[in-house]
Amino acid sequence: MTTAPRRYHVTTFGCQMNKADSERMAGILDDMGLQWEADPYQADVVLYNTCTIRDNAEQKVYSYLGRQAKRKQEKPDLTLIVAGCVAQQEGEALLRRVPELDLVMGPQHANRLQDLLEQVMDGNQVVATEPIHIMEDITKPRRDSQVTAWVNVIYGCNERCTYCVVPGVRGVEQSRTPEAIRAEMEALGQQGYKEITLLGQNIDAYGRDLPGVTAEGRRQNTLTDLLYYVHDVPGIERIRFATSHPRYFTERLIKACAELPKVCEHFHIPFQSGDNDVLKAMARGYTHEKYRRIIDTIREYMPDASISADAIVGFPGETEEQFQKTMQLTEDIGFDMLNTAAYSPRPNTPAAVWENQLSEEVKSDRLQRLNHLVNVKAAERSQRYRDRIEEVLVEDVNPKDPTQVMGRTRGNRLTFFAGDINQLKGQLVKVQITEIRAFSLTGEQLIPVVA
Ligand code: SF4
Repeated sequence: MTTAPRRYHVTTFGCQMNKADSERMAGILDDMGLQWEADPYQADVVLYNTCTIRDNAEQKVYSYLGRQAKRKQEKPDLTLIVAGCVAQQEGEALLRRVPELDLVMGPQHANRLQDLLEQVMDGNQVVATEPIHIMEDITKPRRDSQVTAWVNVIYGCNERCTYCVVPGVRGVEQSRTPEAIRAEMEALGQQGYKEITLLGQNIDAYGRDLPGVTAEGRRQNTLTDLLYYVHDVPGIERIRFATSHPRYFTERLIKACAELPKVCEHFHIPFQSGDNDVLKAMARGYTHEKYRRIIDTIREYMPDASISADAIVGFPGETEEQFQKTMQLTEDIGFDMLNTAAYSPRPNTPAAVWENQLSEEVKSDRLQRLNHLVNVKAAERSQRYRDRIEEVLVEDVNPKDPTQVMGRTRGNRLTFFAGDINQLKGQLVKVQITEIRAFSLTGEQLIPVVA
């Protein structure tokens, strides 16, 4: 008698690093012979890959876990896994809170999923949160897109930003070798992927832990060296990278981006605050003047480059005057996109226990004012696309209009146009822009693709 294969579901919260980890873990489950199940309440193996950056994402996980724990009482063979940052942060405490859990695993252990599940199958409740040397990826991730893919280049973070849980949960920096990264990109190119985003929590730290200096005494294996090393991978048409850190962003990197045709003119460089004292309290290691210089230099080399960033309002002790400096920076730079957040104290971070916390009212009022400005500035920035012809990499059908496809420009603007996804998926298409909104564009395909 043959039994049906066990079905698994993965729900992901949080950042691109988590999404990339989820794709790798799903790839491991595929290789183990399990089958993907879209409904978490029908699956036999349920994995929540969690995030602690925002409190509401963490609360959501607990509510999902509560429902799954109930389900497990009727279905004892259900395997329940919590991975990611909540798992790392809570460790054993999670088992006490949700005793039905089978496996609690931190982000550094993502590549060990099979090994850990085997321990679960042997009847153990497993907690894997100790720091380890990350094993090189040997599995084939189950990727959500067939056009764009993430490739991890560095895990962990050695910075100590006072609001951030990442160093505590993702451990110290560990760079992959350029050879391993290139090999993964070559395989992706062969499979038909067109765009790669190189990923790291602080990608400018890439290579600091790898050996090698040049004859001139310069450290080898920087992010810039990596871009030169991988930019000609066959099949890959576009390369992006994230997340940049203003403290380490170099002119050499900017020059490389201007010089290498596949590297897109889009930079995601969080500034977090426009006030130097707040930046100091955050332990960010740069001033707003340095941040402005970086953007000026990018625009000298690539006048049309898109700039996006992250900003936090209502950091402990932030005065109205200091907040106004964040508004001023936002006004002056004119971001294409700015991810904003009201500060929320995260467990085991220095700023969480400071006494000068601001009220929720003040934080949400500042957030609203900043968001309004972000929308106004993004709408202004969008005007430069008027009547332009943009190269769009088609990723999918427009979920709101099945007669349209959608993709992104090199500057990362979401763009819609009429077309058949079966014909256009993965194609680079020239699109005449006809409609402009703050964060997206609509256009018409210029030269039809011949099937
Ligand atoms: S650079 Fe700072 S904010 Fe970014 S992951 Fe590291 S500690 Fe967190």
